[in-house]
Amino acid sequence: MHHSLPTPLTHAILGAVLLSLSGLSVAQDKTLNLYSARHYQTDEALYANFTQATGIKINRVDADDAGILARLKAEGAASPADVILLVDAARLGKGEADGLFRSIKSAALEAAIPASLRAQPTADGTSWFGFSTRARVVVYDKLKVKKEDVDTYEELAEPKNKGLLCTRSGSHPYNLSLFGSQMEHMGEAKTEAWLKGLVANMARSPKGGDTDQIKAVASGECGVALSNTYYIARLMRSTAPEDKAVMDKVGVVFPNQQSWGTHLNIAGAAVAKHAKNVAAATQFLEYLAKPEAQNYFANGNNEWPVVASVKLSNPALQAMSGGAFKAETVPVSKVAANQARVQQMLDRVGYK
Ligand code: FE
Repeated sequence: MHHSLPTPLTHAILGAVLLSLSGLSVAQDKTLNLYSARHYQTDEALYANFTQATGIKINRVDADDAGILARLKAEGAASPADVILLVDAARLGKGEADGLFRSIKSAALEAAIPASLRAQPTADGTSWFGFSTRARVVVYDKLKVKKEDVDTYEELAEPKNKGLLCTRSGSHPYNLSLFGSQMEHMGEAKTEAWLKGLVANMARSPKGGDTDQIKAVASGECGVALSNTYYIARLMRSTAPEDKAVMDKVGVVFPNQQSWGTHLNIAGAAVAKHAKNVAAATQFLEYLAKPEAQNYFANGNNEWPVVASVKLSNPALQAMSGGAFKAETVPVSKVAANQARVQQMLDRVGYK
């Protein structure tokens, strides 16, 4: 019999083939490869809950933002990455610009996450989504500096603050994003003049991380500095006497309350360009927008949730901000898109 009418035997073979194919796809979907620049204790619970709810295991590769982007580039189409977690808008924007992410369409994510906290959508969908926010605020020496002299970003560049300012490297993504946001608010020429003024006011050449700046303010080496809010919250929540001593000396200002608001940055996620499990990766991003995940993701690192209906209970953030503050509403995608031009300005004004 050599015509191909279905017989019980071919049915059986076809059935077996389909069964093994679906078995294969289930096996593939059971593990999600996550490249993460976040390394917090509470993230363990975040992943465990996802696995419990979906049966999908998380296989995590930890690196910093720059390391993850470099690795994705080097791996190319062979990359096993499904989901990428990064902690800055400038980095997410860079990943998008370098073609490392796969745009997705998700009604759930579009409904949950404000448009200003995700990538600009294209015909293919959205490249990355923010899942928590952090503010970039001013920390100052309460004895040496008056709060009203440092309660705008612009004032940090004024002659009255000469010799007082400390920051980490200007090219660090947190600063690239802040400066890119200032560029949206003030325009390119004023931003460059402002950056020049910041350089002129430095107490020392930029070095260290945000926590180092806070400590240098407490030690008297610097009068005023910039820090992300979660570093301050960490020191506030610390039981170590030396951390308490640091926080006794410094004041915190949420700048630009009378104008466009304090600069906000995000931690966010994207589906990898060559993800093998796009459906499961999308499912994971949708999970991150659910209330319990928002609480782990945001509160776990003393950040704010992006989903408006999720209420936060974080005494340190509450105390620091006085409960509420005016945040800028400029889209983080625009801020991220400015980073290359900001870097050129930094080179011109000699901001290391
Ligand atoms: Fe950080």
